[in-house]
Amino acid sequence: MKKGLELQSIKSWMNTEKPIIISGPCSAETEEQTVATAKQIAATGKVHALRAGIWKPRTRPGQYEGAGDIGLQWLMSAKKETGLPVTTEVANAAHVEACLKAGVDILWIGARTTVNPFSVQEIADSLKGVDIPVMVKNPVNPDLELWIGALERLNKAGIKKMAAIHRGFSSFEKGPFRNLPMWDIAIELKTRFPELDIICDPSHISGNRDLIAFISQKALDLDMAGLMIESHINPDAAWSDAKQQVTPAVLGKIISELVVRKTSSEDKTFKDTLSLLREQIDQIDDEVMQKLAQRMKISEKIGQYKKENNVTILQVTRWEEIIHTRIALCKAMGLSEEFTTELLKLIHHESIQVQTKVMNQMKARV
Ligand code: PEP
Ligand code: MN
Repeated sequence: MKKGLELQSIKSWMNTEKPIIISGPCSAETEEQTVATAKQIAATGKVHALRAGIWKPRTRPGQYEGAGDIGLQWLMSAKKETGLPVTTEVANAAHVEACLKAGVDILWIGARTTVNPFSVQEIADSLKGVDIPVMVKNPVNPDLELWIGALERLNKAGIKKMAAIHRGFSSFEKGPFRNLPMWDIAIELKTRFPELDIICDPSHISGNRDLIAFISQKALDLDMAGLMIESHINPDAAWSDAKQQVTPAVLGKIISELVVRKTSSEDKTFKDTLSLLREQIDQIDDEVMQKLAQRMKISEKIGQYKKENNVTILQVTRWEEIIHTRIALCKAMGLSEEFTTELLKLIHHESIQVQTKVMNQMKARV
């Protein structure tokens, strides 16, 4: 039986419509900076909760490691001034205890903590019997099971007000993103747990402020429940993650320019047109599958023939020829090279499996 999570929707515990916007500085640096940022983001009228890191898990020593417990008081002052609920990162039971004592509204578990089941379990144990929302960032490495494991540990401890935060995945290769979005992992999480709300953190994915609007729009188009965006009254002077923070004014502009689409429409013409198009897709998928099955049957015959003639399965020149001709053909039809290559690799792999089975007269697949 498929194990699910027992959840309450983010709409119910944030008491607002999606997309939920959470913003604030990477780190609370001083009381003035925390409160001033909170006031300015509240004035945009577009933010539903204030974020600020108090204990900062820094990759290298010697960087700003957060204000510590005193920062919680700054968060509470910001809450008092703006009425915004506040959220911060917790990495152990002592952080949880301090947050609960101070009156923090929502907790989140950071990417460097989600990777460690001992830490997550410690946090879950410290939350037994406590009714507080907890958001779980993806682990730094692209391991969906680890992300799910953290959600399950909290859920088992009785936490039902949960959301996942997609903040991208660390990689040695440096591309345009600080952390690779790997959207497929977030989509797979949503497919496995449709009731689970996912918030996107475009700031940590991007690593620079120029990409935030693009990533935010993409997240909403993938039906994510909201965004967590880092903002600061003076981003360039921020004590952590300076390059990726935006001013409250820029934040307001980014949010107001986002296109929020519906997940479906009750409009009759829309529904009729969509169902007509889907029928066409169903028909085409049928044909594609039949053709693939036919192709594999022929592979089987080739395998038999190669066996009788004592010829190897893999023939590199033939494979190269297939790749070149098909990519050229597909390109001419408007399909991307990347897609065609991946598809051909899958087909070729299966074809080799089929021929290996014939060649060795094996029942099991290898
Ligand atoms: C943060 O939100 O500032 C942070 C440290 O994020 P992450 O855990 O995603 O690296
Ligand atoms: Mn940060």
